[in-house]
This record gives sequence, structure tokens and C-alpha cells, in this order.
Amino acid sequence: MFDTNEMEIHLSGIGVSPGICIGKAYLVGREGVDIVDKYLISEDNLQNEIKRFKSAVKNAKDKLQEIIEATPEELHEHAYILETHKIMFKDKMLYGKTIETIEKERVNAEWALKKVVSNVKSMFNNMTDDYLKGRAADVLHVSESIMQNLVGAKAVDIAAIDKRVILVATDISPAETSQIQLEKVKGLVTDLGGKTSHTGIIARTLEIPAVQGLDNATRAINNDDIIIVDGNSGTVIVNPTDQTLIEFEERQFRYEEYKAVITRNSHLPAETTDGSKLVVMGNIELPEEVVSVINYGGDGIGLFRTEFQYLSQFDFPSEDELFDQYKDVIEVITPKSVTIRTLDISGDKSVSYATNSDEKNPVLGLRGIRYCLKKPEVFKTQLRAILRASAFGKIRILFPMISCHEEILAAKKILAEVADSLEKEDTPFDENIKIGIMIEVPSAAIMADIMAKEVDFFSIGTNDLIQYALAVDRVNKQVAHLYQPLNPAIIRMIKHVSDVAKNADVKVFMCGEMAGDPVNIPVLIGLGIKRFSMNPQSIPAVKKIIRSLNVEDAKRFTQDVLKETSETGVLELVFQTYGSTLFEIGYAES
Ligand code: PEP
Ligand code: MG
Repeated sequence: MFDTNEMEIHLSGIGVSPGICIGKAYLVGREGVDIVDKYLISEDNLQNEIKRFKSAVKNAKDKLQEIIEATPEELHEHAYILETHKIMFKDKMLYGKTIETIEKERVNAEWALKKVVSNVKSMFNNMTDDYLKGRAADVLHVSESIMQNLVGAKAVDIAAIDKRVILVATDISPAETSQIQLEKVKGLVTDLGGKTSHTGIIARTLEIPAVQGLDNATRAINNDDIIIVDGNSGTVIVNPTDQTLIEFEERQFRYEEYKAVITRNSHLPAETTDGSKLVVMGNIELPEEVVSVINYGGDGIGLFRTEFQYLSQFDFPSEDELFDQYKDVIEVITPKSVTIRTLDISGDKSVSYATNSDEKNPVLGLRGIRYCLKKPEVFKTQLRAILRASAFGKIRILFPMISCHEEILAAKKILAEVADSLEKEDTPFDENIKIGIMIEVPSAAIMADIMAKEVDFFSIGTNDLIQYALAVDRVNKQVAHLYQPLNPAIIRMIKHVSDVAKNADVKVFMCGEMAGDPVNIPVLIGLGIKRFSMNPQSIPAVKKIIRSLNVEDAKRFTQDVLKETSETGVLELVFQTYGSTLFEIGYAES
């Protein structure tokens, strides 16, 4: 145990929902579900044991249904997450395997469930991706509620908390998070979870600061400890000194002020001072994030990463499941548009049922379009679902990880076959659907003139483009200092793509994180980029800086930028020229 009395402790995790809060810790216990005994079941009693397991599943499912029905208005979009959990109760991997273990090993239901969950956990743990960690959490949440029913433990009643607190837990399930009453819970801190956990997404919608993935928060924090949660930096401070408290109270005040200023005008158009109307859209991973894009003033969805639906279950989703989700998204965002990116699994986003875990360099492996071309049946199912959804609003199709011309031809051929089959069935779809490719592999950037002949638009994926062009792993902290969006090599690549696209009359979007950082915007506008897509929270600040810029000035400025030889030089020039503009939008405070 840590001695938390009197001593200020800094814990570092992943900031999943921005903002700062200060308050008393409320530890959410999970007594009774961790310690489980093993005992053998006689042949005669096996069927009873299975019945006991099935009835625990039913009770847990009924309880979840009650929670879904009691979900407050502002979280209704999230009922989908809980519906997914409802399906998981009967998943083969959890439900089927537990029954099989009871039968085969003649053990009690608790032990069988524990064994199955620990296998699932280790399978997920061997994967490095954030999404998958989030999915492991989903399995745990579902299994935990079954276990609670088996052992008769009381579920955590978040709705019953009667004072203003910050929740601290090993993990908090989406079902629990959705019971949070905003007037009671100031913030969230958990040992597990990460950016793409459902809990994180709900916290962002509720706009409560949250830090996850702290590993040891529940050991380092005691009930009623004063804690500071900084969701911007992913830091939690336990028992802060008076000086730290004053500092963070000031930071909290400045952040709230910054947020109020920045969001006040987020619905104004992203129009430069010389009258160019630019487009600022949001990136989403889950349908429920559409609401954030709208709330933050986004001009549509510039990137719908579709991997999530594949990662959140144990088998490929069906065409109808995919179609339902795409239709939901387009119906909410209409009359604005959505760019649906086809599956970019594998690489670092590997899916247990779909990938070969032996790849030595997964990010250089069977990833994105390469995977889809190798598995045309998986690809076709998704393309059919996207085309069917295109009958309900304006959808664009985006192919990820294109590294050569043949890949576009092959992808388009399959798309044409799918369109043909839909036509034969008289199934409606948008016959003029726009087709684009991600420019995220340097070869695609260099070959942009050739690629442009095949598509309607490009979407520059700087997250990967920087990784591949500068040979810097995008998730490796050791080389984070070399991961430089404004590196002259990257600027030149973007310029090449933008110039080529302009000549070929192909639209260019930028959907990597580079587009969401106001500091990069003057250079990008100077390079001719007019359409940006980013995480929804960044939309207001990017729109705000756009409204203070002049395109012609930015173009002249970028001529000087192109003479710089290092990112440091570029940044110095940006701050010399646009420092006061960035300061005015509160950039230094963000
Ligand atoms: C990118 O690479 O910039 C991108 C937007 O795609 P992802 O982050 O999903 O790889
Ligand atoms: Mg990418």
C-alpha cells in the first residue's frame, strides 16, 4: 500500500476526457467478484450448474436492460454501447465457452467463467492496440456482471452516490458510467481503459474530466483523499500541497474560460478574413460520436474509422449490422456528409479472428486495403453495406493504406462488382458516390499525379504519413521528439499532394491529427489545404484560428516556411508571424 497521508503523489495515465477537476475521491469497490473458489460438480448436477450459469446471465442481462431504460436523455445515443454488451452476454467466446468448460471440466460456473475470462484477457493483452484494450474491458464488464450474479455480490450503485465526488475504480463499465449524475460526479479515474474505451467516450459526452490507464490509482488513492484530475495531460495528483492546489485551481479557471470562449462561436463558419470558406469536419470511431461533431460545430464527418465495429466483437459483423450502423450515422449527420473509410484492421489494430499474429512488422504488414484485397468476401460485405447506406444521405468511400496504383484499380474493381450486384437486385444506392484514397504512405504521396486519375478525392492521413516518411513509430515514446508534423519533409510532401490535386481537380482533405492542431493551420492553408477533419474537441479552436487568417498572407508566409531546414525553424517562423493570433485564441492555455 502507498502511504498517501500528507504526501503529494503524481500519477500518470491517459487523459481520455479533457478538463480539470478537484475533489474528494470515492473508491468504487468490487468486493466478492475477484476471489472465486474452484469445486467439482458431480455428473448428476452438471445440468443444474449450467442452469445456474444461464440464470445468472439472464439476471445480468435483465439488470442491463433496466439500466438502458433508465438512461438519461443526454446519454440516449450511448444506449447502443449497452446494447452491444447485451449481445456479448450470449457470445460464443464467453457464454458458449463457459458452458463447455463446466461440462468438460465438471467445475462450478464461477470457476469456469473465471477461466474463460482469463483466456480472453490474455489473448487481448498480447495485442498492443488501444482499441483492443478497450474491447478487453468490454468483455470484463459483461463477465463481471454475470459473476456478481453468480456469487451474489452487490453491483456498484453509482446512482446512489449522495455527495460531490471523483470516482476512482479499477474500471468503470459503460453501464455504470451512464448512471452518473452530473451533479454528483466531478470526474473519473480508473486503473484500466484508454482513449477508445467506451467509458472514455461517455465521459467526453458528459464533459467530465477523466484519466484512465493509471494502473495503480486504486492502490495509491484512499477514500476521501483530495485529488486533482487533469484530463488534458492525463495526470492525477493525490493529496496536493496548498501550492499545487492553488496552481490547479487557477489552471482549472483558465481552462474553463478558454473552453467557454472557444466554443461560444463554434457554430460560425470557418471563413477566413478574405472570405474563403474552409471546411472543418470531425473524425469518429463510433456512431455516438456524431453528436460531439455536431455539438462542436463540425461541417460533417471527414473520417469514420470503421475498425471499431470489427474490433468490438468476436466474429466479422454481418452486412446488415454494418449497414444499420452506417445508416444511423448518415441519418444523424444529414444534410452534412460522411466519409466512410473501409476497414483498416491489421497492423497495430489486429483482430483476433482476422489476423495472423506472427507478423514481425505489423504496421508494414497485411494492413488496410492489403488485407481487404486478400479477403474480398470481407471487403465486399462492407462495401455492400456502405453502398446501401449511401441511399440515405451523402456518403464518400475512402480506401486506407493505398501504397500503389494497382491497389486502387483492384479496390475499384471490387466496388464495381458490388455495385453491379446491388443494381441487379434493385437495391438503391448512390450511383455517383465519390471515391477517395488515404494519402498516408509516402509512395502514394509521390505518385499522387497517377493516383489522382483514379479518384475523386484524397485524404491526407498525417498520423501514418509522418510515421512512414520519417521512420518514426507513432506510438513509441522513445522517438516521440522525432515525430514532427512540421518537419520540412512532411511540408514538402503535403505541398506536392496539394499541387498535384489542384491541377487534377481532385479534392484534398486532411484527416490526421496534424489538422487538429491550430499551430499547423497557417502552414496548411498556405499549402492550399481547405478541408480539415479532426477529433471533435479540436474543431472549435481550429475554426477560430481560421477565422483570424488571410489565405493570401498564409501563402506568402508558406513561401518562407519552405526555405526552412528543420521543424524548429518552421515553428520559430510560425510563432514570429502568428504568435499573437495563436495567443488570442488561447493556444498557450490549451
Ligand atoms: C492517419 O493515418 O492519419 C489516419 C487518419 O488514420 P489512422 O489514424 O486511423 O491510422
Ligand atoms: Mg492511418
